[in-house]
Amino acid sequence: MASEGTNFNMEAPQFYIPQRALAVFAHCDDVDFGCSGTVARWVEGGAHVTYCIVTDSGAGSNDPKVDLSDLVRVRQAEQRASARAVGVEDVRFFEGYQDGYLEPTLTLRREIARLIRQTRPNIVMTFDPELIITENYINHPDHHAVAMATTHAVFPSAGTRPIFPELLAEGLEPHNVNDVYFVLSHRNNLVVDIGAVIEKKLDALRCHATQIDEATLTMVKEWNANDGKEHGFAFAETFHVVHLHDAPPTE
Ligand SMILES: [Zn+2]
Repeated sequence: MASEGTNFNMEAPQFYIPQRALAVFAHCDDVDFGCSGTVARWVEGGAHVTYCIVTDSGAGSNDPKVDLSDLVRVRQAEQRASARAVGVEDVRFFEGYQDGYLEPTLTLRREIARLIRQTRPNIVMTFDPELIITENYINHPDHHAVAMATTHAVFPSAGTRPIFPELLAEGLEPHNVNDVYFVLSHRNNLVVDIGAVIEKKLDALRCHATQIDEATLTMVKEWNANDGKEHGFAFAETFHVVHLHDAPPTE
């Protein structure tokens, strides 16, 4: 397994409550647009979820009067509050990555691999690294960069002993992630019913007061309603799940 990246388990992924999950995203609010309904269900089921926000989120305003260093502080407070709205207390902010300039460097990959070995999640969530454009959307380059770095932190870096031996020196043994949940994907294979937690998700989004107004909330609600419609759910989130390891989530 150490050198080959393929798995041959073609069964459709099933929703389950992981013991631990780690969500790695570029900016404050990414996780709430993408998957905080699913996170809310996991937390209600007893999961420990960690959020990791990689950039400083300091480009989240085009208003020339906004103090951008103040914006970093405000947005991090918003993210902590939104995490609490779905029961997540463990929020990590990486330092030294400016909003809008993120690249999938080895340094970033190592930092995410370190966090995976520290938190030992069953499930890692991030953006789909293959999504760059849609019919009417250009994915943010920070989203693409965090997706690339996280995907390759999961495999091979977090699980392979000889990669980043400095992590071993820190006492961090390799860790295999069971599943990766990619958000904003062209090829979803899992639909999660979030009907019972939609208000929690909307409350989490409302915490990002510098970014999100009522029109945006309505838009997200419509996305989640559309995602659920075909499957008989009032609201749903969709993922492309890559199943890597069969180890039971209660391991
Ligand atoms: Zn973003």
